[in-house]
Amino acid sequence: PDARTPLPTDGSAAWFERAHRVTPGGVNSPVRAFNAVGGTPRFMVSGQGAWLTDVDGNDYVDLICSWGPLLLGHAHPEVQARVAEAVARGTSYGTPSRSEVELAEEIVARTPVEQVRLVSSGTEATMSAIRLARGFTGRDVVVKFAGCYHGHVDSLLAEAGSGLATHAVAGTPGVPAASVEATVVLPYNDRAAVEQLFAQRGGEIACLVTEASPGNMGVVPPEPGFNEFLAQTCARHGALFVSDEVMTGFRVSRQGQWGLDGAREGWAPDLMTFGKVMGGGFPAAAFGGRADVMGMLSPQGPVYQAGTLSGNPVATTAGLTTLRLAADEVYAHVDAAAATVSAAAGEALTAAGVPHLVQHDGNMFSVFFAPQVDRVVDYVGAASQDTAVFRAFFHAMLEQGVYLPPSAFEAWFLSAAHDDRAIGHVLDALPGAARAAARA
Ligand code: PMP
Repeated sequence: PDARTPLPTDGSAAWFERAHRVTPGGVNSPVRAFNAVGGTPRFMVSGQGAWLTDVDGNDYVDLICSWGPLLLGHAHPEVQARVAEAVARGTSYGTPSRSEVELAEEIVARTPVEQVRLVSSGTEATMSAIRLARGFTGRDVVVKFAGCYHGHVDSLLAEAGSGLATHAVAGTPGVPAASVEATVVLPYNDRAAVEQLFAQRGGEIACLVTEASPGNMGVVPPEPGFNEFLAQTCARHGALFVSDEVMTGFRVSRQGQWGLDGAREGWAPDLMTFGKVMGGGFPAAAFGGRADVMGMLSPQGPVYQAGTLSGNPVATTAGLTTLRLAADEVYAHVDAAAATVSAAAGEALTAAGVPHLVQHDGNMFSVFFAPQVDRVVDYVGAASQDTAVFRAFFHAMLEQGVYLPPSAFEAWFLSAAHDDRAIGHVLDALPGAARAAARA
């Protein structure tokens, strides 16, 4: 029953070859290339609801959702209509406009931030938040956690150096040692490591930046109270707590991860970063926070930051419309859909005898394949999984028309458009894929 005629991929293969000639690796963002799983990435021609269609006419249930942004699914009619109207009024003014104010108001209404500045990518948001934190505190050191990704910001593309309080090392060629000299990398969920570092160097630390709930090493949620502990530790030492909600923001709840912990525990980050959902599938992102900190930003204050397309009227219209449509029912649907798919994945893998862990943060989840630990709490645990097992699972899902993130270290994303038909299609594919994983 697992043997089927392979899906046609001639069209994707031809486009991939063309792409290779003009673009390094044939893609504009590395993980799209299937380097971790092998094979040919599919070139898509359209997305509708929960489904993607490729150049060869194959349909896939999309479990990437553009890596998080598409909370409402592809081509939501209301978002499309508002965007079409915005485009008809011109695509970029280079002046202030109304939709950027309305989007900022919506973000301020949902989160603890008092003010926001709009940018065009999550990378820009974290880069600017770091600069602002350094400008505000007059300090240089930035603390981050191993396995957390904050975009390709030089100072954050850092790996842990040899000792706890030593300098980090650059995570990629092209980042000068000087750019990560003031970065310290700690193990995630490790309170003792945080306490020790702040005791030693607290007065040098401008900020600690963390994914509000890491999704870039697979889903590794914060231990209960961990974010609050980080906020308090930063406050005690005059450092800023920067919560990166680019992935979790407006996705895991109306108020993002802060809605799942901070709002209840009664703390707030000094700065937050947002992206993905708030752009509604367009390039829009933001950073925001305390008014006194944000007030340091140019033109009100001395810390420079700018952008030709920042607050773009089309992108902000898409984001604003998406957030306005993202009511409680949307979150309830995505939560339920994620619970169904993740439970079924776990059951299929158990039935096939594949050791695994399914980890959740609200409706964000991922599956660790054959990890060496009982629970993944940090990057070392995440990295202990067997990527060959994932590879077999991934390709078996793809062949059955389910497009998973092509890496074992990524969250699976669902949307409000994942209806019974789409979810049923995923559930039908899981047992065969689990058996393929068992044979890996
Ligand atoms: N922060 C987090 C937590 C992210 O997940 C990402 C993107 N995956 C970024 C920052 C960077 O965002 P972008 O890709 O829009 O630059």
